[in-house]
Amino acid sequence: MIEITNDLDNLGYMELDDAVELLKAYIEQRPEFLGKGTRIYFNENSGFVFIADDDNNVALLNDNGKLEQYFYCSECGYEDFRDDFIKHAETPECKQAVADALNEDISTLYPDAEKQNNADSPEKQGEAPVSIFTR
Ligand SMILES: [Zn+2]
Repeated sequence: MIEITNDLDNLGYMELDDAVELLKAYIEQRPEFLGKGTRIYFNENSGFVFIADDDNNVALLNDNGKLEQYFYCSECGYEDFRDDFIKHAETPECKQAVADALNEDISTLYPDAEKQNNADSPEKQGEAPVSIFTR
């Protein structure tokens, strides 16, 4: 069972360090995609520390140490930052879920969606990503 907590008492030193880095980045950036109810959360299963708001917008630190919005595919459970999140979708269902999550038009995100449907899609069934969400 995945346990998500915002109780700092449950965080170890490493996780508290991550929380400090998140807060520093939050102070610098104040990302617009985070709104009411923005809090720091900790996933006790994966060890991820992240920021989320009441609308389930999620922010994680990217490789550049910047807060970036992190997306969840309601179709297959894939999670990633925007660029790879868009790329993960190989089925029409995933593409629709991506468009919904990004609140963007599917034909803008995948201009050649129809053509790709007949091409052999590479097998991408490897490891299941570690979830940071309760879902
Ligand atoms: Zn998907």
